[in-house]
Amino acid sequence: MKDTLWRGTAFDDTFRIFAVDATQTAQKARDLHDLSPISTILMGKMISAAAILSLDLKNEQSDVSLRIDAEGPLNGGLVICDMHGDIRGYMRRPQFETQAAADNFYPGRQLGEGTFTVIKSQPESQPWMGSTKLVTGEIAEDLAHFYMQSEQVPSAVALGILVDQNAKVRACAGFMIQQLPFAEPAKAEQLIANLSATPNLSDLMDMGMSLQEVFERFVFKGIDYNLTPARNISYRCNCSKERFARSLLTLGLKELQEMTDGITPVCLYCNSKYEFTPEDIKGLIESMETAP
Ligand SMILES: [Zn+2]
Repeated sequence: MKDTLWRGTAFDDTFRIFAVDATQTAQKARDLHDLSPISTILMGKMISAAAILSLDLKNEQSDVSLRIDAEGPLNGGLVICDMHGDIRGYMRRPQFETQAAADNFYPGRQLGEGTFTVIKSQPESQPWMGSTKLVTGEIAEDLAHFYMQSEQVPSAVALGILVDQNAKVRACAGFMIQQLPFAEPAKAEQLIANLSATPNLSDLMDMGMSLQEVFERFVFKGIDYNLTPARNISYRCNCSKERFARSLLTLGLKELQEMTDGITPVCLYCNSKYEFTPEDIKGLIESMETAP
């Protein structure tokens, strides 16, 4: 089954539900960047969070970036998700591992102080940017905090990811439930009670439970809710030699004239290499000189 992003509601549309299964997307990210287990955990959680954030996008050509900048050794990274469910990103310390094995399950401890930044881009207008301080660095709490700070919407978020010793992502999924302003307090209490009786999402996934089973047996136990697929998601980079050629042109004539041996830029998001021979560079210079 393909990775899927769902949306839904509960209690007569007074609560919004966002859910994502990102197992294959996280695996592709792990393989492309040869991520260590702790980097895979951070990237997988950021992929789920960025996919959830993308459900707020309105314009077909828009995308959302989630960026973590932290002082600790894991440092952070960036994940971008567009309206079509195409996801790409990178970790700043892809191969990082800690000495204490148990700590490799908690990226937040290796991030330390930092910021959680969301950037929404759409064509022909300035990007929107919102930034909050990292709460735990485990991303779920940070996403909930971000929605509370930026939109004053109470949100409950759970993100889970399981990575085995062979760097295989066994499961990566997450959900967010938001309470809308006209929700009845008693309903919120019922949901909070269910959520606090719900075991850790990663542990439930470890037992082989799907997101739907977690919802039915724990989160929405005794509660009417609906969930419909919004779109599929997958790891897909949009780079090409033409895109890199356009970036090279922006460097200016002088820089290009200095690239006498050619240049082989590497895509930050997918590690594809694009070779520009000295002849290619000459061609770029000529196109610059003949441009109006
Ligand atoms: Zn690429």
